[in-house]
Amino acid sequence: MILQTALRMVYPPRCLGCGGLVDSDFGLCGTCWRDTPFIVGLVCNLCGTPLPGDGPDDSAVCDDCLVIARPWAAGRSALLYKDRGRSLVMALKHGDRHDIARAAAAWMAQAARPLLQRNMLIAPVPLHWTRLLRRKFNQSALLADGVARHTGLSWCPDLLERRRRTESLEGKGRDARFAALDGAISLHPRRRHRIAGRPVLLVDDVMTSGATLAAAAEACRASRAGEICVLTLARVAKDT
Ligand SMILES: [Zn+2]
Ligand SMILES: [Zn+2]
Repeated sequence: MILQTALRMVYPPRCLGCGGLVDSDFGLCGTCWRDTPFIVGLVCNLCGTPLPGDGPDDSAVCDDCLVIARPWAAGRSALLYKDRGRSLVMALKHGDRHDIARAAAAWMAQAARPLLQRNMLIAPVPLHWTRLLRRKFNQSALLADGVARHTGLSWCPDLLERRRRTESLEGKGRDARFAALDGAISLHPRRRHRIAGRPVLLVDDVMTSGATLAAAAEACRASRAGEICVLTLARVAKDT
């Protein structure tokens, strides 16, 4: 406690968005909170995209998820990938901002509440080791660790691995993304015993087409996991 108080005096809590002083740790100031597109209300049960109407309705599905097969049971996302939602993700990914991961994990744990099951295992979507080397950390693993802390569930940082390096998906269309990711993720051979019959919550920073999460979910299905759900910090939604 004394150490915490001392740290507060040296490093008073700052807003994650603008750097202004805030009352609590790991939060946003009032202005940034208003500018951050938190997803609330009725959402697609498979990807977490906001839908018109009132929630909650566990059977609502968005247009994308009607067309694209999702190899998981349910999904949620904390933010829309736009405005401050986008800048927070970019800062987390490329700016070494581990403080953002802590706050984001709390928002994600809140969004994931309808998905949580006893004995659920949390696992991050993996980066290929060459990318990990360059970036030094896997932002999805930071988020998964945080979500595990907030929910009291256990997590497995290396449940999944990337067998091959996939080129950047930036700017690629949906079909190209699914083709690039097909079979790219597999279960760590020594982690199979951890998921047989067990519900799994896959964690990633952003869901765009859902191709990466689909590859991760397929790997879990192939190893006979129980129900698979997905959770992301931000969802890229059309026309928003
Ligand atoms: Zn702020
Ligand atoms: Zn959807």
